[in-house]
Amino acid sequence: MSIIEFKVSFPTDNGFWGRECNICNKYFKIDSDKIKDNLFCPYCGDLQPNKELWTKEQNQIARKIATQVGKRFIEDEMEKMLKDVFKNSKTTTYTPGSRTEITQPTSHVEKEVDTEINCPTCDMKFQVYGIFGFCPGCKEDNVLIYEANLKILLQEIDNSNNPNRSLRHAYNDLVSTFESYCKRVSERHNLGKVNFQNLKNTKEHFKNDGLNIYEGISDVEKTKIKRVFEKRHAYQHSKGKITAEFIKNIPEDANLIETLAVLSRTEFLEGIEILKKIFRTITNKYCS
Ligand SMILES: [Zn+2]
Ligand SMILES: [Zn+2]
Repeated sequence: MSIIEFKVSFPTDNGFWGRECNICNKYFKIDSDKIKDNLFCPYCGDLQPNKELWTKEQNQIARKIATQVGKRFIEDEMEKMLKDVFKNSKTTTYTPGSRTEITQPTSHVEKEVDTEINCPTCDMKFQVYGIFGFCPGCKEDNVLIYEANLKILLQEIDNSNNPNRSLRHAYNDLVSTFESYCKRVSERHNLGKVNFQNLKNTKEHFKNDGLNIYEGISDVEKTKIKRVFEKRHAYQHSKGKITAEFIKNIPEDANLIETLAVLSRTEFLEGIEILKKIFRTITNKYCS
């Protein structure tokens, strides 16, 4: 049996090359100049060889070219055989027939994504779609990744045809993003863990290590971010109703007791900005 090798040259999308994770099947793009032999999936974090991360579209093209190469091989072999057969014939001449063309792709087959990140730790440049957690080059969770995620949450609200529902999701995702960030920082620095969905617990947790997470944040801002966390809690645990517990944490809202918490894009947007400051404060202490 002979092995036929062939090359496929995939054009890049402005220098970016699509990859697809074999574990979570999600799609991302890598700057083709920065590609590494092994890449972490930005969504699930699994480390896989780059040469196994073909996207469906790339596979389809490779299969098409493989078929062409196979056909062409058979045609070439046939021709050699026929030439041999007819080479001494005085009465018949052999004219070769047409051959299968091998067509390399001329345009890229990559999909649209929404975020581009240049990792400050390993200098990897990559593009992702939606929420993600890791740099494919170093798996480092840096503040840029979290900030990019917050921006994506906002886009989701703006593109939704049910803003209220997507606001509920966004408040929840905002708190989850914060939670996973605090969790990872704490794990890496052996700080133990608390319920990071709760700002008071989080404040105490970092205070024990000498960090004030509200550094540079005004009282008004503090109330605003607490409100976002409390409202998220209300929608997760009491169908959006403002309970006595809510009022205990935010006495300013006492007149709203027993009413349904109102979510808004402005409140969410302000929450993002305040949370970004908190991220920076934590990062300044724990990440160089
Ligand atoms: Zn994955
Ligand atoms: Zn990196």
